[in-house]
Amino acid sequence: MVRTYEEFPGVEWVEGAGRFIRVIEEKCDGCANCVKVCLADCYEISGKKARVRNLDKCMECASCWYVCPRDAIAFSWPPGGTGFRTDWG
Ligand code: SF4
Ligand code: SF4
Repeated sequence: MVRTYEEFPGVEWVEGAGRFIRVIEEKCDGCANCVKVCLADCYEISGKKARVRNLDKCMECASCWYVCPRDAIAFSWPPGGTGFRTDWG
């Protein structure tokens, strides 16, 4: 199944991507950089640790991984054919 969102015209998400990003809790210090940088609102802070709330609108930009000062985000790409795709490539 394919999902779209009104606020992101020209973009769709193919279901089946799974939890391709996760937080390594032991390394996370709760700085919230990932929360601030993520335009898709995928993260939240809970108990002074980041948590991936929902990857439904993840654009696979890797900004969260890039800004994490503690190497606490395990980033991977979704399985081929799933996840984020756009009308322009
Ligand atoms: S890859 Fe981009 S859109 Fe996805 S969770 Fe990280 S910052 Fe958010
Ligand atoms: S940027 Fe890294 S250390 Fe900071 S809250 Fe997010 S996962 Fe934790």
